[in-house]
Amino acid sequence: MTKHRSEVDIAIVGAGAAGLGAARAATDAGASFIVLEALPRIGGRAFTDSARFGFPWDLGCHWLHSADVNSFTALADRFGIAYRSEPSAWLTMSGGRALDDRETQDLDAYLDVSATAIQAAAASGRDVALPEVLDLASRWAPSLRRGFAAEWASEIEWLSTMDVAGYRDTNQNWPVSGGYGEIVARLAAGIPVQLGTRVQQIDWNGDGVRIDTSAGTIRAAAVIVTASTSALAAGTIAFAPDLPAAVQEAFAALPCGRAEKVGIAIDKRWLGVSDYLSMSVEPAGPRGMSFQFAEAGRDFANAYIAGDLCDELDAEGPGGMEAAAIDALLGVIGGEARRAIGAVHRTNWRAEETILGSYAAALPGKAGARAVLREPVGDRIFFAGEALHPEFYSTCHGADESGWSTARAALAALGALPA
Ligand SMILES: Cc1cc2nc3c(=O)[nH]c(=O)nc-3n(C[C@H](O)[C@H](O)[C@H](O)COP(=O)(O)OP(=O)(O)OC[C@H]3O[C@@H](n4cnc5c(N)ncnc54)[C@H](O)[C@@H]3O)c2cc1C
Repeated sequence: MTKHRSEVDIAIVGAGAAGLGAARAATDAGASFIVLEALPRIGGRAFTDSARFGFPWDLGCHWLHSADVNSFTALADRFGIAYRSEPSAWLTMSGGRALDDRETQDLDAYLDVSATAIQAAAASGRDVALPEVLDLASRWAPSLRRGFAAEWASEIEWLSTMDVAGYRDTNQNWPVSGGYGEIVARLAAGIPVQLGTRVQQIDWNGDGVRIDTSAGTIRAAAVIVTASTSALAAGTIAFAPDLPAAVQEAFAALPCGRAEKVGIAIDKRWLGVSDYLSMSVEPAGPRGMSFQFAEAGRDFANAYIAGDLCDELDAEGPGGMEAAAIDALLGVIGGEARRAIGAVHRTNWRAEETILGSYAAALPGKAGARAVLREPVGDRIFFAGEALHPEFYSTCHGADESGWSTARAALAALGALPA
């Protein structure tokens, strides 16, 4: 079916959820393709490490977001990968103690009013920074900031009302104790991926594309690029000729924020729980983070740190993030527990050169950027990935669906599928 003098119909850049979704669609359609991945492993931001702690630890995605309408829920069932479908108990710790019932109600009411204000702004077409529609004088504003940073990996000043309002959240978010990255790895079985191959330049002069990589040159009729918007904005892949200005502006309008994890091995008796517990911890000042304790009964605490706090802790030097997570943990369970702490590991998605962050959110006024990237360039350069899904952006299943539908569109453009 190859139209041009190409080695393959489609080259797919990236073997994360989007690239693997595209590869499955290409396989389905009987097209020839190649998947090029810079890292020495598949999965991208979906990666379960089972070696570090002796049980599955997701460095990236872990929650089946909107799980009741998430295609990966059925896949977890099919592969026998465990997840939890009931909500865990949730505690908010502020100033060293748990909020009482009355305070929790007040906080929830404030968050509801804030969510309504964002939806109302979006409904009236106001694409502005969240602070423009929020009451930040409230005593609960630090909790709201922490919550938005955790969900969007960015500070509220850099988030767009329309983008936040456009995300489809069914409020069913289920953690995958067997490893979300493991689901993606199982989906990849049988898909040929050329690992350790970094795409350096995509030349789209003339027919098809010529792709220069660290391991040689490949010609394809079309290319699907699934690198993160931050990697693309940073120019990690050169395009010849340059991409249209609108496309380059859309990369910049969708920066990947920061979200990192610190895994802490600790006997759950010190955590004071026998079953799974989620907790947000708000010490004095803006250094809030959240924890998950004893998931699946494990002797383990997972800290989730997001937004500007990641940069601040990294600026403190090596070990700064781990130390802050341990301090926050001990602030809750008591300093005595320090001697019970075993292995500690952190993620560093910002330092991953072909990813450069966690997940993308549109800047204020730029909610339309996602749609710009869904349009192909010259009918042979297609973009896919978490940032491009129309409603499940920032998620793994959104990335997979984006990859799948983009491959179908690319194959249709090549005449291999009905348009
Ligand atoms: C800390 C954290 C927590 C998260 N939690 C959740 C969660 O609970 N639930 C959820 O649904 N989502 C979550 N996410 C988001 C989710 O992991 C991502 O949205 C999704 O995995 C992105 O998939 P992708 O295919 O779009 O991009 P990626 O996974 O980044 O895949 C792109 C791939 O392209 C490769 N690449 C880039 N440039 C090149 C190049 N030049 N040459 C060759 N290869 C290249 C990269 O190495 C990468 O492997 C989380 C992410 C992080 C970081």
